[in-house]
Amino acid sequence: MLENMNEKCAVVGIFGHTEASKLAYFSLHSLQHRGQEAAGISSSDGVKLHTIKDRGLVMSVFNEEKLKTLSGTSAIGHTRYSTAGDDSILDAQPVFARYDLGEMAIVHNGNLTNAQEIREALIKKGAIFQTFMDTENLIHLIAKSEKEKLIDRIIDAVNKIEGAFSLVFLSRTKMFAMRDRHGFRPLSLGRIANGGYVVASETCAFDLIGATFIRDVEPGELLIFEEDKAPISIKVFEPTPKKCIFEYVYFARPDSKVFGQSVYQMRKNMGIELAKIQPVEADMVIPVPDGGVPAAIGYSQASGIPYEMGIMRNHYIGRTFIEPTQEMRDLKVKMKLSPMTDTIKGKKIIVIDDSIVRGTTSRRIVKMLKEAGASEVHMRISSPPTTDPCFYGVDTPDKEKLIAANMTIQEICDFIEADSLAYLDSAALLRSVNNTSNDYCTACFTGEYIV
Ligand code: AMP
Repeated sequence: MLENMNEKCAVVGIFGHTEASKLAYFSLHSLQHRGQEAAGISSSDGVKLHTIKDRGLVMSVFNEEKLKTLSGTSAIGHTRYSTAGDDSILDAQPVFARYDLGEMAIVHNGNLTNAQEIREALIKKGAIFQTFMDTENLIHLIAKSEKEKLIDRIIDAVNKIEGAFSLVFLSRTKMFAMRDRHGFRPLSLGRIANGGYVVASETCAFDLIGATFIRDVEPGELLIFEEDKAPISIKVFEPTPKKCIFEYVYFARPDSKVFGQSVYQMRKNMGIELAKIQPVEADMVIPVPDGGVPAAIGYSQASGIPYEMGIMRNHYIGRTFIEPTQEMRDLKVKMKLSPMTDTIKGKKIIVIDDSIVRGTTSRRIVKMLKEAGASEVHMRISSPPTTDPCFYGVDTPDKEKLIAANMTIQEICDFIEADSLAYLDSAALLRSVNNTSNDYCTACFTGEYIV
């Protein structure tokens, strides 16, 4: 079970600002799409760390009164996505601990692939774990390290872990930000207009709090933030970039720059490529909102087929209180998406979505559009078939549940009852994201795992 424990998440760190926890709070709002199960912030007032975390959306976890107790000029925050059964408040982040050097809090986006081994070894030596999160390993590794200074202990600890990690650590006087050597998950550095620095999973957080993008934290790089100093950079690992291509396909917000490129533009490119290699005659192109919107715009512009709004999305359906069982997922799709009947009646429609995972969404959408009177429904997917699970921090189900791992494209087309179904291929996807040096992880489409 452990390998499922620390999935699609967002991290943020604010350093050197009098309203640090407020800025962390606003940043978490703009990163809410990366996880809706739990949220948390730890701040430091220079003497003591303060932590508030709970299940639920950022908006429901915090209020003005609570934020006031998170005093100090540095703060780190997290939003968490988790699977069924591990929604204990203990599994929310930041992970906080007192140890021989004082107090420490950690937030983590990614997934440690050797978490189980480390945990078992630590438990054998008498360590007591409070959560199921792989991130807790880091606390133990840092606390047990024989090095004197925290910075050396962090370097010690990250040398023992493998897999995907974009991490932010907070001590009483310093903040540290680190990306694994492959840079699977994003992490960007920015400067806050009226003083201080910010690191965040996506740059949409910078736009909200009025910070300017400086650069990405490099794969394998550790940044140290200290009072009245520019961040110090240490190259802990030789970088071997394998950036997660799924950030561009689905995960990141279109108004973010991820891995140095606009997510919106990458997604639009995917739509343009899709129109080129998977054309079909139709009256209109419609997106599955919101994920399919940029690719549908690209498809429409490249094909000359008009873009229409054919499906309405209800934005007020959260995920917090609905168990992710199959039955509930079906119901949720129905609650979330409804057809624009007048627009689509009697029309041949191209529907664009970013991915098919289990096939539930596509099947329901095709059925809904046909029931609303569409004469033909052609499904076009702006990524290759998702055939393999992710071990580096994106929440994809086991291989048995991935429809493309178990059916041919024609079988999937029959299952979702579409008139046709076609995907983008790997080469076109890589072209869309301007790949030149093979530095993307595409394991979810190829099964080629690096770690
Ligand atoms: P499914 O119904 O399982 O085939 O899910 C497909 C839908 O889920 C698509 O509309 C995608 O935009 C969306 N999706 C893709 N990857 C993920 C993910 N990791 N978590 C949640 N939703 C996703």
